[in-house]
Amino acid sequence: MRLKYSIIFGILTLIIVACLIIAHRSRKAIGAYVSLVLVSLIPPIIGNLVIMNSEEELLSTVGCYLYSIGMDLLLFSLFRFSYEYCDLDWKKSKWKILICVLLAADALQYAFNPFLHQAFTVRCIQVEGLDYYQMVPLLGQTIHRIIDYSIFAAVIIIFVVKTKQSAKVYSERYLSILGCLLVSALWQFIFVVFRIPIDRSMIGIGIAGLAVFFFSLCYRPLRVLDRILADMASGMPQAMYFIDAFGKIIWANDTAIKFSNIKDDEFDEAKEGLIAKFGELERDMEDWEEQFVIKEDGVKRYYAVEMHTVKDDANGVTGSLLSIRDNTGERRSFEEEKFNATHDGLTGLYNKDYLYNRIQEKIISYPDTQYLVLFLDVKNFKIVNDVFGMEFGDYSIKCIAEWIRKDRSDKCVYGRIAGDTFGMCIPKDEFDIEKTEKELSEFIVQEGSKIHHIPIHIGVYEVNKEDAEVSVMFDRAHLAITSIKDDYHEHIIFYDNEMREKVLWDQEISAQLPKALEDKELRPYLQPIVNTEGRVVGAEALVRWIHPEKGFMNPGSFIPVFEKNGLIVEVDKFMWRSACEILAKWQAEGKDMFLSVNISPKDFYFTDVTGVLKEYVKEFKIDPSKLRIEITETVMMSDITGRMETLKDLKNSGFIVEMDDFGSGYSSLNLLKDMPVDVLKIDMMFLSATDDELKALTIVKNILNLSSSLEMSSLTEGVETQNQFRMLNELGCNLFQGFYFAKPMPIEEFDEFCEKFNSARANMQNTET
Ligand code: C2E
Ligand code: CA
Ligand code: CA
Repeated sequence: MRLKYSIIFGILTLIIVACLIIAHRSRKAIGAYVSLVLVSLIPPIIGNLVIMNSEEELLSTVGCYLYSIGMDLLLFSLFRFSYEYCDLDWKKSKWKILICVLLAADALQYAFNPFLHQAFTVRCIQVEGLDYYQMVPLLGQTIHRIIDYSIFAAVIIIFVVKTKQSAKVYSERYLSILGCLLVSALWQFIFVVFRIPIDRSMIGIGIAGLAVFFFSLCYRPLRVLDRILADMASGMPQAMYFIDAFGKIIWANDTAIKFSNIKDDEFDEAKEGLIAKFGELERDMEDWEEQFVIKEDGVKRYYAVEMHTVKDDANGVTGSLLSIRDNTGERRSFEEEKFNATHDGLTGLYNKDYLYNRIQEKIISYPDTQYLVLFLDVKNFKIVNDVFGMEFGDYSIKCIAEWIRKDRSDKCVYGRIAGDTFGMCIPKDEFDIEKTEKELSEFIVQEGSKIHHIPIHIGVYEVNKEDAEVSVMFDRAHLAITSIKDDYHEHIIFYDNEMREKVLWDQEISAQLPKALEDKELRPYLQPIVNTEGRVVGAEALVRWIHPEKGFMNPGSFIPVFEKNGLIVEVDKFMWRSACEILAKWQAEGKDMFLSVNISPKDFYFTDVTGVLKEYVKEFKIDPSKLRIEITETVMMSDITGRMETLKDLKNSGFIVEMDDFGSGYSSLNLLKDMPVDVLKIDMMFLSATDDELKALTIVKNILNLSSSLEMSSLTEGVETQNQFRMLNELGCNLFQGFYFAKPMPIEEFDEFCEKFNSARANMQNTET
């Protein structure tokens, strides 16, 4: 029996030592206190083993000391452990000193036992024919037991209170330890009460110690875990279903209960509903996830469904987790965001960037289709807004968008590029030019009483295989539009290489201009202006470019280019200065003649016209009334009040202001009466469209009447025949200019021309008289 129990004790001790190592290495805070308990188990166990094996009194006495003092140590460790395990504050503990004192006193009394024999003695007993030593407890031992049991009771109380105080799910944590302690107490109690001759109580206590080790460090209370997981799952925004190995739903979170409308845990029906919606759920017991778009009551809903199979260590399926997330809100706002980022708010058409991308894609996806890129532009859309209001303007834009959308095949792409410009990419064989021309010529927008023909121009570019950049295609289509003349019969124009060359040429001459001005390639030509008597009284300064490669260039080939890019200011400043220089020369020579210079409407945008002119007059010390300023009606097209002020300023500074090309533009007779203009300059040429000279003369006659009633003098230009001169003279025109008298000429020729011309006139008049 001794051997059998010695082996048991040995194994137990080894296990305790192993657990001690584990507890010592544990990262958990409680590990240190578990170690303390395990270490404290070793002396009483050894004491117990010694008593059991001793065949003589001394050894058994030593065993008893080891056992009893070891027990004191063990109870201290247990007490310390219970504080830590139950989250009590050891530092603030009122009991710790009392307990330490009691235990120390108890240990001390054993030191007196060899002399006083107050604690215990040992006696030899016979069991199964063998000598065993047994402890005979005396007063000291009874006190020892009272102390130890009291401490033990305190520990039990701590655990009972803690169990009661904690939430139900956590009570298991304390109950498990409490259970171990009570069992060990009971075990010990049996030995003490029944006075079992051979004390083997430490086996039970040792096992209880191991149980404490297990519950404190290794065991995770499942119920707590369960509860936490279930709580977490319940609060999840996605519907979650737990399905067992047999395919039955065993649990569903709140979202799932709402989603499947589950009542009274009727999970079976829920599963049928899910299968009807998402198809078979268990797909070969594999994990899967899929996005579903399901129409519910005519509304699209988006679901992200995920099935996760749970397998045990042996790869056996223990169940699965189904999660369903309703993404509809997210998807909708994502799609809305995407739509807003790629579409125009007013028309719902693609915006510029997206249109360009889509065109690129289209052209690539239909490589055998010959595509056309169309740039659509509303002419003078600003006027629509100004005259009819923004609302009508917006409505017109929507109508255009509607027209663009109408009857287009899948191969077409279209969008709004900017305010009043649209873009399209359309297969060549789908573009019916005649039909489109007709529709555009009849494009009328009506809203209530407001009705307006919207002039839309389309520039067309034929896409080549080599073309890569959509923006370049549109640039070219746009370029084509700019060459549509102000002709209401023409709406569509195709881009051709001539246009391209023209652009290149425009760029070239623009780049050349500064140097050309420096090198005096630009020169003022003078066209004489005569009075009623036929004497030259002045001239109009008209620019010419003597180009080193192109030779003689008329202003028609470069002025419009510079008017577009603003370089006209440089040309005009040069012309104004040249005119002042000539006038200064004439003034010095005693010639009483004037010069007219042209002012482009663009000059007003880019420079202080009055300021510059005044500066030149001052520089050359000339009489400002000798410098005539020719403005056209288009100058008054914008900022009327501002421009009126400028003209007044010019007049007040002594300049004579002439209204050039009167009648050819957007004449507003109403405006004319308030305009500070001295001379009306009428162009015979714009009347030459009428073959009937008489008709033309009648119009001129009326304009002449108008000018005299507004107290303005008149000048007719484009006089080509003697007859015209005579008639205009009779009608009361004051001044005349035209090829009949002379074409514009270089300054060097002008003086000679004047002399000859004037003396010829004088001779003629002499003969007439
Ligand atoms: P404009 O100011 O109306 O100038 C009159 C144009 O008519 C000149 O053409 C002149 O040569 C032409 N002309 C004069 N008499 C006759 C005639 O009897 N029959 C015909 N068929 N034509 C006649 P040009 O010099 O080619 O100038 C064309 C336009 O270029 C000018 O029209 C003017 O608007 C602009 N321009 C010319 N020089 C300048 C300038 O220095 N600055 C600005 N801003 N524009 C200028
Ligand atoms: Ca002119
Ligand atoms: Ca003119």
